[in-house]
Amino acid sequence: MEILMAEHAGFCFGVARVISEVDRRLTAGERLMTYGPVIHNERVIQELEERGAHVLNTPEELAGMDGETLVIRAHGVTRQVMAQIRQMGLSYTDQTCPFVKRIHRIVAEAGARGETVVVAGDPSHPEVEGIVSYCEGPCFVIEGPEKALELQLEADTRVCLVAQTTFQINKFQEIVEVFTRKVYNLNVVDTVCNATEERQTEAARLAEEADAMIVIGGAKSSNTRKLFEICRDRCPNTYLIQRARELPERFPEGVRRIGITAGASTPNNTIEEVLEHVGRIV
Ligand code: SF4
Repeated sequence: MEILMAEHAGFCFGVARVISEVDRRLTAGERLMTYGPVIHNERVIQELEERGAHVLNTPEELAGMDGETLVIRAHGVTRQVMAQIRQMGLSYTDQTCPFVKRIHRIVAEAGARGETVVVAGDPSHPEVEGIVSYCEGPCFVIEGPEKALELQLEADTRVCLVAQTTFQINKFQEIVEVFTRKVYNLNVVDTVCNATEERQTEAARLAEEADAMIVIGGAKSSNTRKLFEICRDRCPNTYLIQRARELPERFPEGVRRIGITAGASTPNNTIEEVLEHVGRIV
C-alpha cells in the first residue's frame, strides 16, 4: 500500500497569520472576541475558546463587548460591519487576508469606473458578502457557468469579473469563456488565491493517481469542500473527514494507493494524526 501525501496541504498563509496573531495575544493575556469562527475547524475553535477567545456571530453581539479586542478573521467583514466597529470605538485587529483585501479594492475601483461587478462565488459565504459590500454600482454573484449563461446584461455593459479566493479554478475558466462569448467589454481579474490553486491542482493530480483519496478538513470550510468535490470527481473512493477516527476500518478491496490532502484550515497535528492512523490500517 502506498500513501501519496499532498505537499500543499493544511494552513494557508492567511489562516496561519490569523491563528498566530490570536495565539500571540492570548499568550500575552488579552481577552479576545472573534467576528465569526477564525477558521472552519471545530477543534481549533474549541481550544481557542478554552484559552479565552470567544466567537461573536452577529453585528448585534458587538454591543455586548466589554473591553475585549475583536479579531477580524481572514475572510474579512462587510464594509458596514467595519464602519460599525469603528463607530463604536471597539479595540480590534484586522486580520483580513491581504488577498481578500485586494478584491475589495478591485471591485471598489471597478464600480467607480462604471463597471458592473460579477463575483464568481457562493453568495452566502462571508468572504463574498464582504466583497459585495465594497461594490459601489451593480453587482452580481454567480455560483457557476450555468448562472453565467442565465445572466442577462446589456450588450455594451462593461463587466469586471472576479472570483472568491477559494473558487474552483476550472469553473472560473468556464465562466470566463461564457462571458467572453457574451460580453464585449470584459475585465477579468483572476482572484483565486495561489494557495487555493496549488492545493486544487495537486489534489486533482493525486486523485487521478490514487485508488482512494482522503480530504481532511471541516465540512463547513469552503476550500475543503471544493477539494472534496475535485477529488470525488476523479476518484469515487473519496473520504471527507475532520479527524482520524472518522476513517473506515478498512478501505475497499483493490485499493493500493491512498492520496491525502487537507483544507487550508486544517492544523498540522490533525494531518499527522490521520497519516499515522492510515499507516496503521493499510
Ligand atoms: S485561502 Fe488564500 S485568500 Fe484565503 S485566507 Fe488563505 S491565503 Fe488568504
